[in-house]
Amino acid sequence: MLGEGILKGLGETARNFVGSYVSAERLTTVQYPEERAPEIEATRDFPFLVYDGTDGEAGLRCVACQICEKECPPKCIYIVKSTDKKPDAFGKPQIYPTRFDIDISVCMSCQICVEVCPFEAIKMDTEFELSTTDRFGGLLYDRKELSKSNEYYHKIHPTEAAEVDARLAEEKVKADAKAKAAAAAAAAKAAAVPAQAPAHITPKPPVTAVEGDKQG
Ligand code: SF4
Ligand code: SF4
Repeated sequence: MLGEGILKGLGETARNFVGSYVSAERLTTVQYPEERAPEIEATRDFPFLVYDGTDGEAGLRCVACQICEKECPPKCIYIVKSTDKKPDAFGKPQIYPTRFDIDISVCMSCQICVEVCPFEAIKMDTEFELSTTDRFGGLLYDRKELSKSNEYYHKIHPTEAAEVDARLAEEKVKADAKAKAAAAAAAAKAAAVPAQAPAHITPKPPVTAVEGDKQG
């Protein structure tokens, strides 16, 4: 029938319109801030830096490689890398960012920084109550403000955080096995070298002909 599709479409719209007033799961408006809509795991707004353990300084995963800074389209990440190394959460000496700022007034929440980070060190936050009267300083977040624990990451993105943990654990097993194999190879190589004279025995210099005459 001519116009049947239009009538069906209008019927669907009417059903949705009425349903949005009577069906509890479709009432999308809440009396914010007294009421809050349930959090959705896929929500994202601005990035934060993940740290392992309880120390936000020592446990920071970021090694200041600056890939995110280079790839950020509006260039709102500012990193200064350290000139020394500090042990990370697993005791491995690492370069770290002495400065890591994100200007969230410029950030466009594209998540590219998250996707390019090889160390699972930067993730998207869901915190949205960030209004401030300070347009500049108040929206320039430094390393301390950006650092949040892995537990927090699990709380806001449980599925994604569990996948990341599994991936990191797998990588650690591979890295440990590689280090063990390298150590075993080095030990085998050392064992194959012929025994040398102990360092404390200094060989006597050869006696020259002149010295030999003097002695005679
Ligand atoms: S989310 Fe996008 S714009 Fe924001 S800091 Fe990351 S790369 Fe830059
Ligand atoms: S957050 Fe990731 S990509 Fe950015 S500097 Fe740190 S380790 Fe590198």
